[in-house]
Amino acid sequence: MTTPKHPHDHDHDHDHDHDHGSELSEAAIRVRALETVLLAKGYVNADALDLIVETYETKIGPRCGAQVVARAWVDADYKARLLADGTAAVAELSFSGRQGEHLKVVENTDGVHNMVVCTLCSCYPWPVLGLPPVWYKSAPYRSRAVLEPRAVLTDFGVTLPPDKTVRVWDSTAEIRYLVLPQRPAGTVGWSEAQLAELVTRDSMIGTGLPMAAQSHTPGAAGTDGAGA
Ligand code: FE
Repeated sequence: MTTPKHPHDHDHDHDHDHDHGSELSEAAIRVRALETVLLAKGYVNADALDLIVETYETKIGPRCGAQVVARAWVDADYKARLLADGTAAVAELSFSGRQGEHLKVVENTDGVHNMVVCTLCSCYPWPVLGLPPVWYKSAPYRSRAVLEPRAVLTDFGVTLPPDKTVRVWDSTAEIRYLVLPQRPAGTVGWSEAQLAELVTRDSMIGTGLPMAAQSHTPGAAGTDGAGA
């Protein structure tokens, strides 16, 4: 006879710690309760759950989106396909999956700056950006991004010319957005991999811009000895 394992006793080899204190948010407590019931009833497998979480925490993230952006910067045909059908174009680079089934890519130009929000909750293009940052899910960002996008951009350190149009895209359960930022000046001849290093997560949400070419030595680790 085997002793049934308590559902919470699955292997603790993952790196999130189970602090059983009272510091969990109500949402976290509810998630934990739901997970416990689903595990106990055999609807989900603990190892599979851990694998999904680990995948999104460590393997899928903004570096995926950066590769997409860099490809679009060097390949006009790819860029056209990306703007026409984001989901299909990112799948060309083997990025696909949940929360990315209907991906729309919006292009920043000299005249337009795009910014993405989910006013209802936290919808986000997981296959190309991974999991959303905490601020993206916060009530202040969700409301202010639509009410006063320029003020939000200022908070993020982004100042745009006054005549540039700011366009805010509200994500839904159906459609997720990815901003295609403008290619930084001074990057003629850079390789796709070098260009990808300039693409920040926030530049693909629209709350930031890519790094400037001057601020970054392509392919080199940060060895400028600053502060020495
Ligand atoms: Fe949402």
